Amino acid sequence: MTAYDKNNIFAKILRGEIPCKKVHEDEYVLAFNDINPQAPVHILVIPKGAYVSIDDFGANASESEIAGFYRAVAKIAQENNLAAGGFRTIANTGLNGGQEVPHFHVHLLGGRSLGPMLAKAA
Ligand code: 5GP
Repeated sequence: MTAYDKNNIFAKILRGEIPCKKVHEDEYVLAFNDINPQAPVHILVIPKGAYVSIDDFGANASESEIAGFYRAVAKIAQENNLAAGGFRTIANTGLNGGQEVPHFHVHLLGGRSLGPMLAKAA
């Protein structure tokens, strides 16, 4: 697992060095609108702790950080009226997953029918 880069974009957003359109914040998470939305609602939920990816988070975060994170994802979906119609969560991980920002994040997408989960495999 690669070491955490404290200068990644989301670390800078957490420190307030780069602005974001915040939709939710609590002890465990910050959530903000994706700068390049792929759906009418596209929110990024990130833990406040320094974790590279979901495998780092699952292996090294405390029980309260993990519970706090996923409870917040569910709450943010409710707060943004996604739960009734359905929505999608994505956590891109590493090279094959196409992860661009090396701070664990969950994409929360909704507001329309999202179609198939993946493009057809080659
Ligand atoms: P990944 O490919 O790592 O799963 O997703 C990274 C996401 O972060 C992309 O959807 C991209 O649009 C978003 N993103 C990259 N830089 C910024 C930024 O500076 N601000 C915001 N709000 N989103 C960003």
